[in-house]
Amino acid sequence: MNRYTRIKEPLSLKNKREKELELISDSLSSNNNSTLSKFNFSAYKISDVRKYLKKENHNKCCYCGSILSDSQSFSHIEHYRPKRDDNSLQLNTKGLGYYWLAAEWSNLCLSCSVCNIAKGTKFPLSPNSKRFITSRNTYFEEALLINYTESDYNPEEHFEFLEGEINGLTLRAQKTILTCKLFRDELVSVRKTKTTWFTRKCRNFLRDLERTKNEITNETIEYRKEAFEELQEFFKEYLKNFPNNKHEFAILEQQILRKEIIKSNKSISEIISLLNREDEKISNF
Ligand SMILES: [Zn+2]
Repeated sequence: MNRYTRIKEPLSLKNKREKELELISDSLSSNNNSTLSKFNFSAYKISDVRKYLKKENHNKCCYCGSILSDSQSFSHIEHYRPKRDDNSLQLNTKGLGYYWLAAEWSNLCLSCSVCNIAKGTKFPLSPNSKRFITSRNTYFEEALLINYTESDYNPEEHFEFLEGEINGLTLRAQKTILTCKLFRDELVSVRKTKTTWFTRKCRNFLRDLERTKNEITNETIEYRKEAFEELQEFFKEYLKNFPNNKHEFAILEQQILRKEIIKSNKSISEIISLLNREDEKISNF
């Protein structure tokens, strides 16, 4: 859901992948595709892969943005392009899938079990695009499922939220929502709760920020000190490094911040100047 940058793959994966690709190549040269369709892909399962993927996207599901539970049964190592086509109707490749990408770092991400099951072996392409499985070259494929690590991916151009409901603004976003069932009731409900909670938090921040324009008196100093700490905390957590992708449903949060607080390019510099002035007023009182 939120964009994230790839970190370097674990070295252990590279070694395992090379060995696995040799075994795959043997299976293929025996000209027995059915052997490969039952191939036990294991290189991507090494513990370093999960550890690195967790670090890369703050232990969140790459599709829905939920924070993942520590239980391994809840989080899955997900293949953006499916390694196998269990239901050959999906990819029309006789069970093969994108087998050579099974342990390719750029094809791996971490997802929750619900998104993982919903996606299955689906990998929708644009109606005009050809699927390049036999030639093992995906460069010309026009994938409709959004890849959140693409450098030009801007989540705000693709998704918008309204009372917890998700809306796809582009064809790719709509396909991604359908493929991973990002419209499911449980997600709508938690996103709605977060919307109410976070909107209130933003409005409290603005209310207290507005109060810094008043003079400090003996009656208000204690309240102002306490409120200032909370203002600083909010600023550090949500505005200093905007957008902050480490939070659950970061895109929803980003959208609320834009609507409530960051209305212009000047907003953040104005907030910094008000906070500095309040700091000065409190120290000089
Ligand atoms: Zn998910």
